[in-house]
Amino acid sequence: MPSLFKIPVNQLWGIGKTKENAFNRLGIYTVGDLLEFYPKNYEDWSNPLCINDACIFSRSYHNTPCCIKADVRRVYEPHIVRNNMTIYKVEVKDEYNDRMTVTFFNQYYTYQKLVNGGEYLFYGVVKDSEYGYQMASPSVLDVSNMCIHPVYPQTANLTTKQIEFAVKQSINMLPEKVNDPVPPDILEKYNLCELGYAIKNIHFPEDHIALSNARQRLIFEELLILQLGMARLKGGRHEETAHKIKKDFTKEFFKILPFKPTNAQKRAIGECISDMKENDYPMNRLIQGDVGSGKTAVAAAVCYSAVKNSFQCAFMAPTEILAEQHYRTFTELFKDTDITVGLLTGSMRASQKKKIQEQIKNGQIDITIGTHALISDKVEFDSLGLVITDEQHRFGVAQRAELISRGNNPHILVMSATPIPRTLALMIFGDLDLSVLDEMPPGRQKIDTHLISSRAKPKAYDFIKREIDNGRQCYIVCPVVAQNDENNLISAEEYSDILDRTVLKNYRRAVIHGKMKASEKDRIMRDFSAGNIDIIIATTVIEVGIDVPNSTIIMIENAERFGLSQLHQLRGRVGRGKYKSCCILVSDTQKSSTLERLNVMRKTNDGFVIADEDLKLRGPGDFFGARQHGLPELKIANLSNASSVENAKMAAHVILESDPDLSLKEHRGLYVETQRLFAAVGSTERLQ
Ligand code: ADP
Ligand code: MG
Repeated sequence: MPSLFKIPVNQLWGIGKTKENAFNRLGIYTVGDLLEFYPKNYEDWSNPLCINDACIFSRSYHNTPCCIKADVRRVYEPHIVRNNMTIYKVEVKDEYNDRMTVTFFNQYYTYQKLVNGGEYLFYGVVKDSEYGYQMASPSVLDVSNMCIHPVYPQTANLTTKQIEFAVKQSINMLPEKVNDPVPPDILEKYNLCELGYAIKNIHFPEDHIALSNARQRLIFEELLILQLGMARLKGGRHEETAHKIKKDFTKEFFKILPFKPTNAQKRAIGECISDMKENDYPMNRLIQGDVGSGKTAVAAAVCYSAVKNSFQCAFMAPTEILAEQHYRTFTELFKDTDITVGLLTGSMRASQKKKIQEQIKNGQIDITIGTHALISDKVEFDSLGLVITDEQHRFGVAQRAELISRGNNPHILVMSATPIPRTLALMIFGDLDLSVLDEMPPGRQKIDTHLISSRAKPKAYDFIKREIDNGRQCYIVCPVVAQNDENNLISAEEYSDILDRTVLKNYRRAVIHGKMKASEKDRIMRDFSAGNIDIIIATTVIEVGIDVPNSTIIMIENAERFGLSQLHQLRGRVGRGKYKSCCILVSDTQKSSTLERLNVMRKTNDGFVIADEDLKLRGPGDFFGARQHGLPELKIANLSNASSVENAKMAAHVILESDPDLSLKEHRGLYVETQRLFAAVGSTERLQ
């Protein structure tokens, strides 16, 4: 229904400037957008209960509201309690002669509609009290409204009823036969209803079955479009590469590597080299490996061969700390070779940046390590052949696209420690080939994880003291930089004072957090790496990638504030060397669900198991949130539903096999919808 995407919402009845703004804030600009603004919930007014059943229902389902049908038998006089509070009451009676008191607070508008003797629908929670059945502040409609009602996400200046009213008008604007982007044979094969029917029933379902059919169909369509888009992003990279490498220099690289690579590292490096050497199109690969599996060495190996084949490399990290750390690792690793390494970050002085940029441009620097500055600034390369991004989950599809456009179609390697179940990884990184580092470097020991309450902290400090006395180092993580009135959380800034009153008072410590200047953070991390600091007190700036193998303890305050995957990343800061390491989670939470979550950390060190548990316990929510992965935002589908994802994937595969660029007439709708979905993440030009 592309034409409805051209009609602004203010064309609908009852939408003036204020309402229009409110709709805009919800991302709704056109009538088409409004039809895609799906209810977040439904109220079932289609099957009213009698008062007694409603009471049992509400009680059994934790005060879930429901609908009853009853006659008004008595209208009481309004009762003014305070200046700003008037109570209105009516008594109603159902068909079994049960009576109930209905109370409204300041809801004159609802109350004045009720006439004695009239029959109405009341939607609310029924309670049984010593004064008989009661219902407070219900929604009220007359009996012609016995149907399932949508509930929309609300915003300031816009109630769900007002949205419903606007949607109703929009639905009336739909043509008799709505253009369906999904071809009829696919609808039939997957037993899906037509688009027009789906739109009507997702907003105003005829019944529960119609609603479920509508949902199923819209979810399928969205996943199909997503799959098509992802597959085409990948397909688009199958053009010839100008950077095919001639020779593999990995053996030579292994001679300078200070340790023996694991088999998993060798395999991943081999796969990358083969991509760059054997294929006519550029490499497009994701390396997934749990924290500590040694992804940096893989990146260095691939860079080595690329540079030896006369190409430049760019290596991007999500934070400056991480970029600086990689810079140090690479500089050290390549110190006895002719390979030059440069660092480029956002906080560098302009003159410094300029100098580096010139060296990149004239080819003096072989490997540039940096943050976003590498793509956001106008960096020109002499012969960029390989782009690597570390901790890929922080970069989106759009940024990847941007990167590709930087060079002359370079090889792309992305590295991620986000443990995502495999099916989902394929969905999210559907445009990439996958290598998995499923083996840890030798000598790693299980990190013991303890959960303690704050009362047990003195004992933990004793333990930390013993470790430091043995020459080890320690991280303490706080959820916030500074304390304020709202949070009662332990802050990084105060922590040093807290330690002054403990056995740790005489040890060297430093505070590090995201708000500090990059140079300052860098200095502290260098000191810590060099062993000049015993205790680092940090916020989650250390979450990704920091590598100091001599540190053996990480203590996490207010652990309940962190997601499981985040805790796993934090825990990955220790146990990186030969020493036995441990993670201490501090929490005073009493909530059983939170305790259950934290206990998962004690039970396993496996990032993939933790990711699955996270998904089970927290639900998909943010975990697979579009933003986190830079995927287009989904309106109704949910990536954690494996079977729908699988179906959509199969369908996309069949479609693209016969029509790789969606140029056939019957795929016009799919083409348009793919463009529209990916427009939001700015990668459409690559889908042309
Ligand atoms: P991540 O996969 O989390 O990025 P890193 O690349 O930072 O992991 O590696 C973690 C630590 O393991 C580093 O100190 C690194 O030097 C070390 N390491 C990597 N590969 C090996 C190996 N094959 N043998 C021994 N140590 C290794
Ligand atoms: Mg890393």
